[in-house]
This record gives sequence, C-alpha cells and structure tokens, in this order.
Amino acid sequence: MKQDIALLKRDHYKYDNHFGSDLRSDFPIFSRKIHGKKLVYLDNAATTQKPESVIEALSKYYKRFNANIHRGIHKLAEEATTAYEETRKAVANFINTDEKNIVFARNATESINLVVLGWASNHTTREDEILITEMEHHSNLVPWIMLSKKIGFKLRYIPVTDEGELNISNIDNLINEKTKLVSLTHVSNVLGTINPVKQITAAAHKVGAKVLIDAAQSIPHLKIDVKEIGCDFMAFSAHKMLGPTGVGVLYGKTEILQEMQPVYGGGEMIERVTYEDATYNEIPWRFEAGTQNIADVIAFKSALEYLQKINYEKARQHELKLIKHTMEGLNKLGFKILGPTESSERIGVISFMDDVAHPHDIATILDQHGVAIRAGHHCAQPLMRKFGVNATARASFYIYNDMDDVDTLLESLKEVRKYFE
Ligand code: PMP
Repeated sequence: MKQDIALLKRDHYKYDNHFGSDLRSDFPIFSRKIHGKKLVYLDNAATTQKPESVIEALSKYYKRFNANIHRGIHKLAEEATTAYEETRKAVANFINTDEKNIVFARNATESINLVVLGWASNHTTREDEILITEMEHHSNLVPWIMLSKKIGFKLRYIPVTDEGELNISNIDNLINEKTKLVSLTHVSNVLGTINPVKQITAAAHKVGAKVLIDAAQSIPHLKIDVKEIGCDFMAFSAHKMLGPTGVGVLYGKTEILQEMQPVYGGGEMIERVTYEDATYNEIPWRFEAGTQNIADVIAFKSALEYLQKINYEKARQHELKLIKHTMEGLNKLGFKILGPTESSERIGVISFMDDVAHPHDIATILDQHGVAIRAGHHCAQPLMRKFGVNATARASFYIYNDMDDVDTLLESLKEVRKYFE
C-alpha cells in the first residue's frame, strides 16, 4: 500500500511537471525506429499518438464486453452502454457542461455538418448572412458554401491580416442584424493563431446570432470551458487529443439542441414510429442514429483521463519554449514562417516555407531523418492562396515533444539546405 501511494505521488509529479521524453514511455509507438532513426513526431495537428491506456481500453472492450448499446438487457449490453455513456460524462466534465449537451459524431467535420444541416438549414433564408473567417479549415468552409448555394444566404468572411491574425476592427459591420450564425476556428491549423473567440461570441450574441467554435486545434492545447466562452456550439475530434480516430464531439446548448432537427434517421434516435410518422428521442440521442462507434467512444475516456492528469498551464509553458526555439532556428536558417511572430499568440503549429526547397521535398528529406512533418495545403486552400503559396511545410507539437525533437528538426533542415545548395 505504501508503495502504491509512493507510485501515485511519483505519477502525479510526472504529469504535473514533466513533458516531452518523460511522457514518451506511455506511448508504444515511440519504441519504433523510422529509417533506423528515433521517431520525431511533429505531425500532431493532423493526429496525435495514442497512450497505452487508450489502446488497452479499446482492446478491453472487444475482449470483455463487446455488445451493442442502448438496446440489450443482457450483462454485456449493460456494461457497454454504461461505458459509452461514461465517456459522454467525461467529455461534458472536460469542457464544463452536462451530458445531454454532448453529441457523438464521427469527427469534427461531421459535428460541424450536423450544425449546418440540422440547425442552419432550418434557421436561415436568402436574406440572412453567415459569418466565418478567411482562416477556416475546409471542414468549416465547404459545408457553409454547400448550404449557401442551396438557401441563398450570403457567406461573409472575417479577414486575416498579413501577420496571420483575424482583423476584427470592422466586426460591428461584419456582425449585424442579418447575421444568423458566426462559425470560426479557435486556433488556425495553418497559422497556429489563437483567435479571440470570447470577444467574437459576445459581439454575435449582441445581435442575436449563434456561434459555433471549431475547437479541433485548440482543445488539445488550451483548457476549454464552454460556459466561459459562451458559444452555442463547439466541435472537435478525439483523435487530435490522444483519443482514437472515428469520434467527433458536438457540444450544443440545451435549448438550441432541442430545436435542432436530426440529420440522420433510424435506429435508436426515435421515440415512436408508425408507418406514417416518427417522433424523436430526447437530446443528445436524437442525433445518434444507427450503431455508434462504441469501441472508440469508450476508449476516448482513457484519453481524457490522461489529459486530466496533465497540468495544462505547465504544458503550455513547455510548448511555448518549443515554439520559440523552433521559430528562432527557422529564422536563422532562412525559412519563412507564416502566422504570428510572437510565440505567445500561437499554439505549437508552425507553417514554414523556403524560396528554393518545395514543402514536399522538405518533408521527404526530414522523413529520412525520422522526422514526421506535414506538407501541403492543410485543407485550407483559400488561405494558402491569400498568402500566395500552394503549400507549406508544417511542424506541430504535443506534450510528448521536447527540445531534442526541435534540435533534430533544425539539424535535419540544415541537411535540406545543404542538399539544395
Ligand atoms: N478544423 C480544424 C481547424 C482542423 O485542423 C481539422 C483537422 N485538420 C478539422 C477541423 C477537421 O477534423 P477532422 O478531420 O477530425 O474532422
């Protein structure tokens, strides 16, 4: 017992104070070598790695209590249902809301589409406006374009400055009595910029507009409290925060979810069905038609438990050091960085370019050194065009990255330089 307490204390100390390599032993993938080299994983904005506890939880579900949920009255079905609903509680707790406000979807993209099709399609006319920003991921852009083509409302954009920040000087004009909804990303997946979502939410509410926050890139890095932000909807993906793929979350305020139409019909989303008509289940189950991604939702709880042990404030300080060191190194090597120049205004997503080496060449050479980064348009083609580029190289950090990873990145970039000289 004494030993257990000692272990607990040690564990607490580890997660409270240590990041980078101290956490890497929790993630089986880091035992892998890439081209004979240590894996330096800097593609976290695309997806994060998974701790052993998440992988274990996934396998435990299939080995011990695999059953369909909400339907059976046998032991396995009861256990599976309880575990699935326990994750809903954990997600609600994580963002400071109630279980009924949490809807599970396949990913952040589907969560956004639920708002577009279930809420906006029934609450807009051709006279209205929807406001988004110039820095949206395609997932928070294309669904709005599709709906605006159907309904005829005007899609407007909060502009992005040359420094990669939202220009909100004209916000009172952009948000007006025609605005029905403002949908914006909390953090840009290209620029790393942290947007003033609380301020924009308050401005939208003044004219009675609703607000959807795309938190896909922020929730892995920043403590999120939906009540504090005040938004009406929030969307994010489990896989970008240590959880499995195939799980998205949509948060919605109670009264708004209650007036939102289900997008998919069938399965357990009903209350009563006749040959002529159907009434719907209560929220949030009304939005979860058919057999859900039970295993991955259940395993997501272990990811949340892992993150709950992490001291976000200290993790942020750790991340800021990595960002600063990376930006200084990139500047010294002559790479151009997109987005805010101050590291405190961004999270650990750094897009960079070179006059000579193409981003795909950079990524290919880095891969030979075991360094995984992303190259491309990052699902933000209009933003790329705005900055006059087709693609960037993007390094993105998470809690298990450290200064050694940054040094390996910078050393490998020196090789890129040599190659192109
Ligand atoms: N929004 C942002 C800002 C993102 O970075 C991403 C993923 N790159 C998404 C939405 C979509 O997430 P998913 O692919 O998990 O649906």
